[in-house]
Amino acid sequence: MGEVKGFLKYKRKGFEKETVEQRTKHFNEFVKLLPDENLREQGARCMDCGIPFCQSGCPIGNVIPDWNDLVYNDKWYFALERLLSTNNFPEFTGRLCPALCENSCVLAINQPAVTIKNIELAIIEKAYSEGWIKPKAPKFRTGRKVAIIGSGPSGLACADQLNKYGHFVTVFEKNEKPGGLLALGIPDFKLDKKVISRRIAIMEEEGIIFKTGINVGYDISVKELKRKFDAVVLCGGAEQPRDLPVPGRGLDGIYFALQFLSQQNRVNAGWDIDPLKLINAKGKRVVVLGGGDTGSDCIGTSIRQGAVSVQNFELLSPPPKERASDNPWPQWAFIQRTSTSHEEGCEREYLVLTKKFSGEQGKVKKLHCVKVEFTPKDSITGRREMREIPGSEFEVKADLVLLALGFLGPVKTGLISDLKLELDERGNVKTDANFMSSVPGIFSAGDMHRGQSLVVWAIKEGRNAAEGVNRFLS
Ligand SMILES: Cc1cc2nc3c(=O)[nH]c(=O)nc-3n(C[C@H](O)[C@H](O)[C@H](O)COP(=O)(O)OP(=O)(O)OC[C@H]3O[C@@H](n4cnc5c(N)ncnc54)[C@H](O)[C@@H]3O)c2cc1C
Repeated sequence: MGEVKGFLKYKRKGFEKETVEQRTKHFNEFVKLLPDENLREQGARCMDCGIPFCQSGCPIGNVIPDWNDLVYNDKWYFALERLLSTNNFPEFTGRLCPALCENSCVLAINQPAVTIKNIELAIIEKAYSEGWIKPKAPKFRTGRKVAIIGSGPSGLACADQLNKYGHFVTVFEKNEKPGGLLALGIPDFKLDKKVISRRIAIMEEEGIIFKTGINVGYDISVKELKRKFDAVVLCGGAEQPRDLPVPGRGLDGIYFALQFLSQQNRVNAGWDIDPLKLINAKGKRVVVLGGGDTGSDCIGTSIRQGAVSVQNFELLSPPPKERASDNPWPQWAFIQRTSTSHEEGCEREYLVLTKKFSGEQGKVKKLHCVKVEFTPKDSITGRREMREIPGSEFEVKADLVLLALGFLGPVKTGLISDLKLELDERGNVKTDANFMSSVPGIFSAGDMHRGQSLVVWAIKEGRNAAEGVNRFLS
């Protein structure tokens, strides 16, 4: 451990961000890495605890104290080696992860946590700029062939690991570009798409084949893939959005969040969009339903498009500002968080239920809402009951409504129905401990298996499924 009292000497310093005024004028990333000297000081804040709770808080078990110390000692290349030993894509998690590790950092018991996520990003970006990230094709090939369906972070991590084991890997993707939600969901201001293409180019040079524009289950049957490949891994994500089937839902101007977000990513990439199908918030009063990550991305995107107002309604109660007593450190803190998109200007309201939409000439004009409350937890079932508050009905004007209400697992038609795959009680693909589904030789990982989750969990699942496949093939 480099500087024993570093945590007493240095204060937490995060990345610099463009001001709200600057960053809402464009769709690009807006955070700036700190100079090396500052990053070394931040690394010195790590206490190299006897039990590194940060490491167990991280789903992929990143060996965080090691790389904090190596950065402090200016040994960036060695820090990179430690980082890549557990994480295939630190350039994605370093930008997108909610940093579960920082919630479990021992310093976070009574001080701001070590800036683990920022140090991770700095290591990988230095590695790219120094030319340390080079294609490393496997030295031998097993002759076994694996098909991966879906190129989100789980499919990419699985492909990367299986290729390292020497198997021939082909990734099938229905969209125009690989990346899954990283490419066509998460806004460019959170993840520059060049970061994905830079990684895909390396994976291609290492021997992985990407076949885009192929919807498996429609363009080619998964049974045919099963005949041609020794194993198939389903990494198709949790693509079934939760709808709001209330009167007026069919009006124009009400869209699922991903229809809106993926279109903006396509526009940014310069792809042709049918002008009649363009969804744009410019000059509109926008209401985003749903208070999670997806809702937050809709807010940031609407503001950049030039919305006149953005309101965000959430059905549940606001989380507490501080950890509740039944949610102690080192657990993930269930507290109210303000994303950079929230900072950019939106009104957030909790405990709001939308009962119907109304409109004029087929276009949405109003939401009809009511305030709700939840009963205390039932001592036996642990459930809370939702009640509408009489007399609290209200209306809100809106020209664009974005539904960011979460996802109900994978789409059940196509792949899943063709294979008659067994599903778990939440409607996700059921697997054994080796990530193999009810059909021998067919595996599943990521949101398709776990349900809507996080990039870091998708990477973890992709890595674990690759181990299962490798065991199966050997
Ligand atoms: C708007 C939004 C913002 C998010 N922001 C964050 C964030 O900031 N941080 C974070 O950690 N997580 C975030 N998440 C969650 C994260 O993106 C997902 O958990 C993660 O991408 C899941 O990875 P995956 O590989 O399982 O699936 P996905 O990324 O969903 O990829 C699945 C891929 O499979 C393809 N596919 C599906 N079916 C077929 C088929 N039949 N044939 C061929 N291809 C197919 C799809 O086209 C898609 O490309 C966000 C999610 C959303 C929706």
